[in-house]
Amino acid sequence: MSRPRFVIFDGEIVPWDEARVHVFSPAVKYGAGVFEGIRGYWNEEHEQLYVFRLAEHMQRLDYSQRMMRFEPVVDVGMIADRTLALLRANEVRETVHIRPTVLVDGEGESSAQGPTLLAITAVPRPLPERVKTGCSAQVSSWERVSDRAMPMRVKANANYNNARFAALQAKHDGYESAIFLNRNGKLAEGPGMCLFLVRDGIPITPSITSDILESITRATVLELLRDRLGRAPLERDVDRSELGAAQEAFFCGTGWEITPITRIDGMPVGDGTVGPLTRELQRVYFDVVHNRVAGYGEWCTPVW
Ligand code: PMP
Repeated sequence: MSRPRFVIFDGEIVPWDEARVHVFSPAVKYGAGVFEGIRGYWNEEHEQLYVFRLAEHMQRLDYSQRMMRFEPVVDVGMIADRTLALLRANEVRETVHIRPTVLVDGEGESSAQGPTLLAITAVPRPLPERVKTGCSAQVSSWERVSDRAMPMRVKANANYNNARFAALQAKHDGYESAIFLNRNGKLAEGPGMCLFLVRDGIPITPSITSDILESITRATVLELLRDRLGRAPLERDVDRSELGAAQEAFFCGTGWEITPITRIDGMPVGDGTVGPLTRELQRVYFDVVHNRVAGYGEWCTPVW
């Protein structure tokens, strides 16, 4: 990874190497932190960097902090401003992945509520190859943590240990990613992305009460499917065996964007190639995030 010059640390713009947290902080000891993953898309024609759905990411970061009872909650209006300031300080003119984190610093134990500290990084991240080629996935034998144990709706750093178990099992078994079942045995999501199936032309995705993160990309996809592609997507409980009945499947998320899934548990999804609806959705999605279509400008915050 090429290192950007600056990071926001404790709210200030500092050189990359100076952004350090103490080993005794609750953030290090217990994973007491919440974060967001956001993308900025470079539009060559406009010579502009657009941050996608910044307001929605800030709203979720506020929710995550409040659910974790952080004190003080770091003001997300300020976080949005600092995010844009960081992109300008680093003179970013390419597609980036932005990660604002609010963590619990100080010397407390696992229930410490503060002091809170804001850090933001923005690192270049071009389109991954798997978006074009598709990927394989395994239904994990690890269960998605239930909302009664630790809410996956809160984007907390510690949640990603559940993701880690599934992702590493998948990797060691020769798959590119994993799909979690939840406590009820229904499909939930991937380690860092949501899931859609297409059955007989109808897009289907696990409902937001399936122990998933309330993904902003998932919400975007639902809206684009309805408004741009004339489909009527369903949000409902989805059984594992429906994976075998689907003609198409894809992951979606800020990092994974729209990634086709072409094989699950060694079986081809549909004919094992990237399906036509997935392809059409990718085209619309990438146009929207780059602010190339009218009507979605509100989702695209210009940096320059
Ligand atoms: N689920 C999980 C567990 C995730 O980590 C992510 C990535 N943030 C997503 C879904 C997708 O969420 P979003 O579309 O808001 O990036």
